[in-house]
Amino acid sequence: MLKKFFLILCLFLYLPLLLYAQNNNKLTLVTAEGTSYLPVYERQGTIYFSINHFADAASVSYYINEETKKIELKYPDHNLKITAQNPFIVLSSKNNSVEKVYQLPTTTYFINNNIYVPLRYTIAILREASGQDIVLENDSKLVIKGKPEKVVPEENAGIVNITGLKFEEKANGTLIRVNTNKRIPSYHSIYKNGLLTIIFRKVNTDVKKISGIHGGGLVKDIKAKNIGPDTQFEFKVSKEYSTSEVLNVEGSKDILITLHNKIFSAPVDNDKNKEKWKFDVIVLDAGHGGKDTGAIGINGVKEKDINLGITLALGNLIEKNMKDVKVVYTRKTDNFVELYRRGKIANENNGKLFVSIHCNSTPDKPTDATGFEVYLLRPGRTKEAIAIAERENSVIQYEDNPKRYEKLTDENFILVSMAHSAYIRYSEKFSELVDKDYSLDTDISSRGVKQAGFYVLVGASMPSVLIETGFISNRHDAKYLSSSKGQKEIAAAIFNALKNYRKYYEATMENE
Ligand SMILES: [Zn+2]
Repeated sequence: MLKKFFLILCLFLYLPLLLYAQNNNKLTLVTAEGTSYLPVYERQGTIYFSINHFADAASVSYYINEETKKIELKYPDHNLKITAQNPFIVLSSKNNSVEKVYQLPTTTYFINNNIYVPLRYTIAILREASGQDIVLENDSKLVIKGKPEKVVPEENAGIVNITGLKFEEKANGTLIRVNTNKRIPSYHSIYKNGLLTIIFRKVNTDVKKISGIHGGGLVKDIKAKNIGPDTQFEFKVSKEYSTSEVLNVEGSKDILITLHNKIFSAPVDNDKNKEKWKFDVIVLDAGHGGKDTGAIGINGVKEKDINLGITLALGNLIEKNMKDVKVVYTRKTDNFVELYRRGKIANENNGKLFVSIHCNSTPDKPTDATGFEVYLLRPGRTKEAIAIAERENSVIQYEDNPKRYEKLTDENFILVSMAHSAYIRYSEKFSELVDKDYSLDTDISSRGVKQAGFYVLVGASMPSVLIETGFISNRHDAKYLSSSKGQKEIAAAIFNALKNYRKYYEATMENE
């Protein structure tokens, strides 16, 4: 009774003060889980709020690099990248690699290691990123209605225990496997001064067990602490660290943390390193060949022949106009080459870019489906993308030992594609450029840049893309793809993209 009275008295005494504080320095955030208050900053009549406090309160996972002052919010279907002192916000879809860039009418700020975004202009972007109904009331209260798109299932409610950590060294970084008894609900990670801190929310850890582990690879030391309801890991990382990702693997309780090396690791005044990454070899991969015809299109046109025609035309353009670049072909004639060998050829020749050329098709001929697609190696997100990868991967049936390919489950995918994560921004850049030039300079329209698990891309340790040049089951596409004019125009469009990609590649290498 006395306690209750005391509480009421306190409230009575402090209520005006509390209200004042909330109205003036805080933004109220109401979610399904409760109410919290976010720090705000006011400048020239515009209210800004701390996006990392918002993510914490709304249980959104995120990664913040306090040195580069960038934050990335990880929603189930989108990533949202925000940089301090920069008016551009980038929203990328995990389903199709499409990026949308929003320009705010004002810049963002970095205060006390938090990134502040303008309240009124950010709500619509957060709404799109989360798929949630987020409403702003009186410039002082944000209400998130409904749960996120994908919520942690009920059975996973309650305490999650971390029971162990395992380190694996990979060619391009370090993989940490975190063993848990249940799926981890959310996390956030912060990088600063060689220290990567990962906070798992509502997670308990057997700290004593963890403290005996000393790390490996890029991780020099580990500290684990339980703080309130959360667990905090501190990984001391080496100078070679560039980025990291925390991955909740579908169908597994383990969390995978991937830490990536810098791609151009040593300083550029190091001539050896410059030589190593010189843009000097391009690997062209004409899909299928020999006993493997690939898809069969209208009038019996064979995919393998079109792939080879475009590949040879492209190779010819590079050899004539980029004399300092060597072209390596996985095949130059109508012969059969296993998928794993294509990657091997690329790696043995120290390729700096791998381009695989294919044609799309449909079971029904003729079809209305038309257009080209550029694919990156990442777990497929849409049914269509997965089906295309399955069709292209099915050629392993012609090989002597199809068992050599590990099934690309989500977990396997992370493991095999770790080698690719360092190159992904280069693959993305090249895809973007191909998409643009191909749309402008050929008779085939774009279906966009997409992602899926292609075995042929898994093998190549370099930036790599696969182009589905068009539908040979479509009358218009098939006619264009079979013609010498069409093949030359497609080759010219890819070559144009290649020239611009080279400029980008060499510029980033200088600045890395
Ligand atoms: Zn194919």
